[in-house]
Amino acid sequence: GMTEQPRLLEGLDPEQRQAVVAPRGPVCVLAGAGTGKTRTITHRIAYLVQRGLVAPQQVLAVTFTARAAGEMRTRLRALGGAGVQAQTFHAAAFRQLRYFWPRVHETQMWQLTDNKFRLVMQAANKLGLSTEREDVRDLAGEIEWAKSSLIGPEQYPAAAAAAGRETPVLPEQLSKAFAAYEQLKNRAQMLDFDDLLLHIAAILDDQPEIAEEFRGRYRSFVVDEYQDVNPLQQRVLDSWVGNRDDLTVVGDANQTIYSFAGASPKWLIGFPRKYPEATVVRLERDYRSTPQVVGLANQVIGAARERPAGTRLKLVGQRPHGPRPDFAEYDDETDEAEAIARKIAQLAKRGVALSEIAVLFRVNAQSEVYEKALSDAEIPYQVRGGERFFARAEVRQAMATLRTAIAHGADEEDLPATVRSVLREVGLTDEPPAGGAARERWESLIALVELAEELTAAEPDAGLARYVAELDARAESQHPPTVEGVTLASLHAAKGLEWDAVFLVGLVEGTLPIMHADTDAAVEEERRLLYVGVTRAREHLYLSWALARAGGRRYRRRSRFLYSLVPDEHPAALPNKVKQRELMSRPKAAKPHCRICNAALTGTMDIKLGRCADCPSDVDEDLLSQLKAWRSERARQLKVPAYVVFTDATLT
Ligand code: ATP
Ligand code: MG
Repeated sequence: GMTEQPRLLEGLDPEQRQAVVAPRGPVCVLAGAGTGKTRTITHRIAYLVQRGLVAPQQVLAVTFTARAAGEMRTRLRALGGAGVQAQTFHAAAFRQLRYFWPRVHETQMWQLTDNKFRLVMQAANKLGLSTEREDVRDLAGEIEWAKSSLIGPEQYPAAAAAAGRETPVLPEQLSKAFAAYEQLKNRAQMLDFDDLLLHIAAILDDQPEIAEEFRGRYRSFVVDEYQDVNPLQQRVLDSWVGNRDDLTVVGDANQTIYSFAGASPKWLIGFPRKYPEATVVRLERDYRSTPQVVGLANQVIGAARERPAGTRLKLVGQRPHGPRPDFAEYDDETDEAEAIARKIAQLAKRGVALSEIAVLFRVNAQSEVYEKALSDAEIPYQVRGGERFFARAEVRQAMATLRTAIAHGADEEDLPATVRSVLREVGLTDEPPAGGAARERWESLIALVELAEELTAAEPDAGLARYVAELDARAESQHPPTVEGVTLASLHAAKGLEWDAVFLVGLVEGTLPIMHADTDAAVEEERRLLYVGVTRAREHLYLSWALARAGGRRYRRRSRFLYSLVPDEHPAALPNKVKQRELMSRPKAAKPHCRICNAALTGTMDIKLGRCADCPSDVDEDLLSQLKAWRSERARQLKVPAYVVFTDATLT
């Protein structure tokens, strides 16, 4: 009502307000981290709903992680925007596809594959390619890149060359493996995540009646984190919007961290050109972080090599002063993790809630040593694989078991106790295991118990069937139950989120930037990851690195990104500083590469031989020249054709 109205505009600065009250039509907010982009779009949606300009169920808001989508729903509910759909691209596509599929194909919708890895492995096997875990993962990643980039198997070799991809196998082999994967998947009547998007775009483009019905249903679209949209998602967005223009996008090109997977900020940056009548707003005030954190963030991104138009935004801190960012060097990873556990305990003692503390790392494998250190210090934590929660094997297994339990009528005790006893069947123990995979599994199961507790608190009469229905609803929207504790998460999973205290750990060469970042563009993406990490902190920010792996002897160098950040007077900066300066000033030698597979060579023996240990010493010279031809012949201009989903089944 009228009395509510002013509240939505309070607590917004003039620029944010301008984006909130802009009439329906294209709106674009280009701004740095912590400037209130997400806040602005949630307020805008609530405002439009409140003014009766759009009905909540006509709004579709999309973002990139389930956690972010869940957060947006929570914020919307608080603002009176209940009923608005805030989802990931995939969840939204899944929902739409499930609805339209039977009408188009006159069959049940195909199942989402629960083991894409296995299908890729089968495809690799069929072609006689390596079925080693790592190799299959690389293959799967490359197939994903292709699908996200709207590139089919036939177009792959040329497209990969044009995009400068480092292909894990010969491009033609990859193309064949890709086709074999699609064939295996279609035969099994399975869909992968990208298929959800491909199918819904195809349906909306090819079926005018369905498109019309869809466009009657959804009238207003909002995209958060638009800098990370990939061609496939953009195609889906285009299909959703049609020839209308009621689209609000917000993003920060400096936070593009998925370009390795095909994402590009070009649509964000190009938005004002595409819609000249758009309301374009730039925000500079950072409301999230102390000036100390903001200063460091500006330094990180200020050092970026390339700063295209639209990324030259400087953040201006708004909050009171806080502690200086803390830099610390350790001898090995175990020392680092143990010291951080102690620092976390200190923060907790000073009143910082554990759920307001995060440890962020570059690769998930880094999590283990922190899990161990936190367990040893008896500090509760959760590992953030967030969006994957309901896809985890133990969760699927638990849900199947719970369903069986309903069928047998298993609930005399109260709900949480019932759930606990059912989950014992799938391995829930009273005490948490020490660490690693077992610990992660336990955390998932205990999260299910806590969800039962949450439900009982809200609905005291809820039984097992109601509980499972709630899980199904959450699984569909992929909203993970929360466990109070320190968050352990990858930098990628931390995007859009914020904590009072953030630990950025393992800042060494080879980890950040990651080893395989061996082009300037890849290094720049790593720098943006650091920027994302730094800007997650509201107040306390800790940056650390260890000079050796846990128990290892091999010396590692601190990340090149730290070079200009560690204050000169800092004790950790002194010993290495001169050495690093020397290293930095040395002219870069051309990197040696394996003459067969083109992998970067590091070992001295490998460099001498000119090939990596994995490649055969006697190689077919024909094959080699073919390979060289592929590498040198990079198509300049690539016209990306629409990608056809099925190879041997059809849509009709
Ligand atoms: P990111 O780029 O990291 O996603 P963002 O631009 O989406 O950041 P938000 O998460 O919306 O930023 O806002 C950051 C923090 O600042 C939040 O805690 C938010 O509530 C707060 N905030 C935003 N705008 C204002 C404002 N005008 N007054 C006070 N606090 C604000
Ligand atoms: Mg945001």
